[in-house]
Amino acid sequence: MIRFAIVSPCYNEEAVLHESASRLSALFENLISKQKISSDSFILYVNDGSRDKTWPIIQELHSANKFICGLNLAHNVGHQNAIMAGMMTAKDYADAVVTIDADLQDDINAIEEMIDKYNAGNDIVYGVKVSREGDSLAKRSTAMLFYKIQQSMGVKAIYNHADFRLLSKRALQELSLYKERNLYLRGLMPMMGFPSATVDDVISPRMAGSSKYTLSKMLRLATDGITSFSTKPISLIIGLGAIGMLVSFFMLVYVLISWISGHVVPGWSSIMLSVWFIGSALLLSIGIVGEYIGKIYIEVKKRPLYTIEEVLMN
Ligand code: UDP
Ligand code: MG
Repeated sequence: MIRFAIVSPCYNEEAVLHESASRLSALFENLISKQKISSDSFILYVNDGSRDKTWPIIQELHSANKFICGLNLAHNVGHQNAIMAGMMTAKDYADAVVTIDADLQDDINAIEEMIDKYNAGNDIVYGVKVSREGDSLAKRSTAMLFYKIQQSMGVKAIYNHADFRLLSKRALQELSLYKERNLYLRGLMPMMGFPSATVDDVISPRMAGSSKYTLSKMLRLATDGITSFSTKPISLIIGLGAIGMLVSFFMLVYVLISWISGHVVPGWSSIMLSVWFIGSALLLSIGIVGEYIGKIYIEVKKRPLYTIEEVLMN
């Protein structure tokens, strides 16, 4: 029997915590009675610098419920870093860890199958969304668009998989060696190369509260999902630059021929066009290169991803 852990990031989740804790505890009771997990398995709620009563509720749940543990981060570090904090804490106590959002939009019934697949020798078990009925149309379509762009950029990631997954202790230890700052966990998983499997995940609507993923947080994640793993945007810009150069070369030939043949140089339009074209191509290239330089800048600083303020463990 394995000592099992669930890691769940919480940012201003006071509205869902009680319900989330009771559903997960019921699942634990069930898995313990089936002898799939040991009775000292635990649920680790990571408070990601919430401004509401999230942490007091976790403290209260911890004293009332033997499964519930807590990790309090000193400030809001974002979903990915909060999950990382939880996993790196849980890995010292558990044989396998499942990460799931506190709003339990993912299908908790898939967790048992994840454990079975772990027992069958998989170090990573991905929850793959087979139905996103619970997500809004806007969320669904932007997510699809993002997965497609990411794929075309050559980033290896599991299609329609978010951060609902099981990792073995071994995978977690390996993950701890990835010291990067611009964390995009979904991209790191396939890089580790461990045996993996998938389970079906049916998305339901958020049980209470509102989405904590603001547009800017989502865009940040999407940018990381591409620029942390792919340098294809640079190549695309270089290609664009090359085409621009070719166009201006033909323009030059045209201008020279009209000079030699004594024709009036057709005036401004072509020149203005090329000036604007080259100017914007340069700006774009500088922008993209700047994006990577920005990353190098952040990487070399090697700042800690999070500051743990308090740990509640059994
Ligand atoms: N979350 C977090 N830090 C943040 C934003 C979100 O820990 O800065 C957590 C949040 O509490 C939830 C999970 O990440 O458990 C996913 O967020 P949410 O459900 O709001 O996103 P959505 O499902 O709308 O994409
Ligand atoms: Mg959600």
